[in-house]
Amino acid sequence: VKLVYDFTEGNKDLKDLLGGKGANLAEMTNLGLPVPPGFTITTEACRVYLDSGEEPAALRDEVSAHLDALEAKAGKRLGQADDPLLVSVRSGAKFSMPGMMDTVLNIGLSDRSVQGLAEQAGDERFAWDSYRRLIQMFGKTVLGVDGDLFEDALDQAKRAKKVTVDTELEAADLKKLVTKFKKIVKAEAGRDFPQDPREQMDLAIKAVFDSWNGERAKLYRRQERIPHDLGTAVNVCSMVFGNLGPDSGTGVAFTRDPASGHQGVYGDYLQNAQGEDVVAGIRNTVPLAELESIDKKSYDRLMQIMETLENHYKDLCDIEFTIERGQLWMLQTRVGKRTAGAAFRIATQLVDQGLIDEAEALQRVTGAQLAQLMFPRFDDQAKVRQIGRGIAASPGAAVGKAVFDSYTAVKWSRSGEKVILIRRETNPDDLDGMIAAEGILTSRGGKTSHAAVVARGMGKTCVCGAEELEVDTKRRCLSAPGGVVVEEGDVISIDGSTGKVYLGEVPVVPSPVVEYFEGRMHAGADDADELVEAVHRIMAFADRKRRLRVRANADNAEDALRARRFGAQGIGLCRTEHMFLGDRRELVERLILADTDAEREESLRQLLPLQKRDFVELFEAMDGLPVTVRLLDPPLHEFLPDITELSVRVALAEARKDPHENDLRLLQAVHRLHEQNPMLGLRGVRLGLVIPGLFTMQVRAIAEAAAERRAAKGDPRAEIMIPLVGTVQELELVRDEADQVIAEVQEATGTDLKLAIGTMIELPRAALTAGQIAEAAEFFSFGTNDLTQTVWGFSRDDVEASFFTAYLEKGIFGVSPFETIDKDGVGALVRSAAEAGRATRPGLKLGVCGEHGGDPESVHFFHEVGLDYVSCSPFRIPVARLEAGRAAS
Ligand code: PEP
Ligand code: MG
Repeated sequence: VKLVYDFTEGNKDLKDLLGGKGANLAEMTNLGLPVPPGFTITTEACRVYLDSGEEPAALRDEVSAHLDALEAKAGKRLGQADDPLLVSVRSGAKFSMPGMMDTVLNIGLSDRSVQGLAEQAGDERFAWDSYRRLIQMFGKTVLGVDGDLFEDALDQAKRAKKVTVDTELEAADLKKLVTKFKKIVKAEAGRDFPQDPREQMDLAIKAVFDSWNGERAKLYRRQERIPHDLGTAVNVCSMVFGNLGPDSGTGVAFTRDPASGHQGVYGDYLQNAQGEDVVAGIRNTVPLAELESIDKKSYDRLMQIMETLENHYKDLCDIEFTIERGQLWMLQTRVGKRTAGAAFRIATQLVDQGLIDEAEALQRVTGAQLAQLMFPRFDDQAKVRQIGRGIAASPGAAVGKAVFDSYTAVKWSRSGEKVILIRRETNPDDLDGMIAAEGILTSRGGKTSHAAVVARGMGKTCVCGAEELEVDTKRRCLSAPGGVVVEEGDVISIDGSTGKVYLGEVPVVPSPVVEYFEGRMHAGADDADELVEAVHRIMAFADRKRRLRVRANADNAEDALRARRFGAQGIGLCRTEHMFLGDRRELVERLILADTDAEREESLRQLLPLQKRDFVELFEAMDGLPVTVRLLDPPLHEFLPDITELSVRVALAEARKDPHENDLRLLQAVHRLHEQNPMLGLRGVRLGLVIPGLFTMQVRAIAEAAAERRAAKGDPRAEIMIPLVGTVQELELVRDEADQVIAEVQEATGTDLKLAIGTMIELPRAALTAGQIAEAAEFFSFGTNDLTQTVWGFSRDDVEASFFTAYLEKGIFGVSPFETIDKDGVGALVRSAAEAGRATRPGLKLGVCGEHGGDPESVHFFHEVGLDYVSCSPFRIPVARLEAGRAAS
């Protein structure tokens, strides 16, 4: 296999092999854009290296051949003494992992070639500064030397010279610094800084491979759910220099505003600097628009290139560029990250521009982004005390206690505090803290700074570059103009949509998107807003495309009505146990304690009208739409008092010689019903079979409620669902009784109620015998919560708080199987049960009502296996609709 590709050989569709950066560099090269020549070592080579610990045998020769070609093109050799070709060696995985992996610039410089570079560039300072950077980066990333040692030496040099910025150091100072740096390398790494340019390059390539498994990179992948076995590509690219004087510089740009989606000139430029300076937010940049007055020719060319890229990629692109003495070079492009709101706006804008169609627009947004837009935001009516304003880097409203380092952020958040991480600027070492924090605030850096890029990726609120705020990490405080000081632990609020920073806690209000779904804000009404308009249109695209129907899990009229407003096409799960709580508990208690048939029948008789009223309300709210009512499921002891409390009460009463008869009976019942494993005990259909009259009471309530709604000219569409069935016999027994009750009610009311009876499939045995069960079921609804619990043998109430963190850390799964369906295990059962069920009963209606019904990835799976609908909590309905649409397009 081919392990190395010249930039002219690849294209943007080869991301698996060339990584995102390599594939896009190739694409730009082929578009005729000014990309410095170079080549990409494939992810395949990296995987071989990571698996075996050795580079593939053919790699060295292939790299040599491509290096020869590169040298021929440049007309000079790597590290050539009198005129060195210099290269950068950069990582580039399939998915962007900003700042997570290693980069080494200026490879090819040595004690001899630094002189040649000085002469060629006519700039001694520049040459020595480049060499100093090489030793520093190489020492840190390739040889593993503590980076602070170099930083300290640099600071010392500045102090000795009484200057504050690097650029004030002269060639002679930098020369001395190089000597110092080489000493540091020798002392710390136990070897000399390599003078052979090819050795530098080979070691750097290996270091990039190794950086794939660095701690930071691994953590980032877990967060972003990027598989650990992809490996990274390595890009070797001829160096161009943005630090050759005022006619040089470097910058980053977006073809549209990544926060709003608006077209315009967005980006940052830094004159006389190298790329890393911008991304790291070390010096303050100027807005890209100012480049026009600095270097009009390059500016115009850049604008032209950006338009080419947008039209070619048909999407927002972000780019990195360098200007070397008036010559513009493109160093990177990719389809840019964006905020959730911008994703919706850009998708509709691109449709309007005729660049993409509706189906493609659906691929440009995600359910996770929609969910993010449904978060509340700050109340603009609230009285606030604004203490500063930075750049709105990643939207959201975050409130929390100020902390000034990652360690504290993690510690406090573990103990349940909400924190805002405040830093002058962030770097990859702050990742833990950023994950732990509600939001991130920095005083330096632009929209493309580390903090901004990473926070956007995480969907975390971020305000960056709030320059009037002075961050003192040593004293752990932040000073704002006017003498306001925020100490560690003080509460602040940050608005990632406006960039505003407030002292104290600002109240939050619902998002406009929720207001829209609730019907309190209308698309096309006023400016309220472009976002709502975009969401409205994308939802319409999704609804047109999707095959899956979306129902709600709801058990009262209020939730049902909300679900309807959010677009629910019925109720997929009404959990009737929720109707047995509150004041009715006592009735249920009596039912459980009943000693005689008469007593039991009496309490059932009293429960009947209450249940019936619940159903009438529900059927009315969902008039014309299916409502699946599940018969009682949970273990009975859940309706009885806590065993310890009750024991104490009884013991105390006995001590006073005043035992309460009812308490004694209760206690006995609690003991009798106590189970070691209630989840596997007397619940679901088992209850119905053990407590005579319970299920028939519920069926009667459903049937009578339906009849009443019919009489009132309503259109009730009730479906009766039996939980926790493991064998068809259970279902048949319950069914026979239910059919009888329904027949009675039909006769008494003279109505044909058309009540369907179906079952949940939530036990492995049910899934495995689905073909038999379908004989007695008119529909299946997969209860993937219990199915996951029983297939894995994971207690759904316990594991997430117990060992799941360890499992996630060890990468056993990337996400809890209770959150996203485990396709290979639980999912396989769903698939085969669906097939078996339909084989028995063609047209069998299939749905899912576990938590997975509202999970984006799972929705795609359910679409694929051919279910008819998913059912989820009301707030997740829009997400499910959108994902169902995406799955079908
Ligand atoms: C399920 O098990 O997936 C289900 C929907 O039922 P419950 O969560 O009520 O057990
Ligand atoms: Mg269940």
